[in-house]
Amino acid sequence: MAESVTVRAPCSTANLGPGFDVFGLALDAYYDEIRLRKEGKGITIQSSSPIPLQPEKNSAGLVVREMSKKFKIKSAITMKIKKGVPAGFGIGSSAASAAAAAVAFNSLFELNLDSNTLVQFAGIGEMASAGSIHYDNVAASVLGGFVIVRTNPLDVISIDPPKDLVLCVAIPKITVPQNKTKVSRSVLPQQIKLSDHVENLANAAVITAGFMKKDVNLIGRSIRDIIVEPARQHLIPGFNKVKTNALAAGASGVTISGAGPSIIAFTSKSADPRKICKAMERGFAFAKTKCTTIVCKPSKGASVI
Ligand code: ADP
Repeated sequence: MAESVTVRAPCSTANLGPGFDVFGLALDAYYDEIRLRKEGKGITIQSSSPIPLQPEKNSAGLVVREMSKKFKIKSAITMKIKKGVPAGFGIGSSAASAAAAAVAFNSLFELNLDSNTLVQFAGIGEMASAGSIHYDNVAASVLGGFVIVRTNPLDVISIDPPKDLVLCVAIPKITVPQNKTKVSRSVLPQQIKLSDHVENLANAAVITAGFMKKDVNLIGRSIRDIIVEPARQHLIPGFNKVKTNALAAGASGVTISGAGPSIIAFTSKSADPRKICKAMERGFAFAKTKCTTIVCKPSKGASVI
């Protein structure tokens, strides 16, 4: 058995509009790297990034603690977390760490767990950041590509995205509250109209078909969410302007990435992604908000390096 293992896991976008709490897509924009080593005392976390170092408050630490308990592993573990994914911007930062931790633990202790089980453990890590278990971001980070998560019972389906799918992500430079996920859930409607549900469901179904048929345009024009996005958009300065600008610049679909505040545009290689990014930057500038934009593609899942 190896004494240490290092795993790299990608960031991700969740929801993709109408797939609230169900869809995820791994992105090759940023990666977290976690090294697990059998040394030290108990579970120790080292990181130079501003994340909690207590195992139960850290998404990766919580995963390692739960997996140690479940598999009755008594070994001391020192975890070194190199954060590449900016935290709190809706691109699955805590999930990338949780996914890397689950995959690393599985490899270090040669557990041979299947992907559903890895996602299940990684999802527990989200308790540390969001206060509840959820699987959309971690499933994307573990498996890569486009994922569909059905929670009850847990089923994780992964589909290879079309090769020409390109994403433009705009990350606004705003201070996000510590409890951002809670705040962005608190604004959601408790009840929705049946006709709204039908419209979102149809869009979500067509997104899945778009991934299966490798049709970027079909995916893009189905990224339309009339339930969650309207309720949340006021939390993002300039949202409407960013969205309209990106669509005018050639994006086929635009929505909030996860719980925000990042905004993601779907397009293909044949459009001009840099032009879309510039248009999104102008949209945020309209609301006197600076942003970082990045052009990226779907990523592979977490892997040992
Ligand atoms: P987002 O999905 O928007 O990136 P997260 O779910 O990653 O947001 O939540 C970020 C919060 O999670 C931060 O407050 C951060 O302190 C906390 N957190 C706990 N563990 C980690 C970790 N290993 N990496 C990143 N953030 C973590």
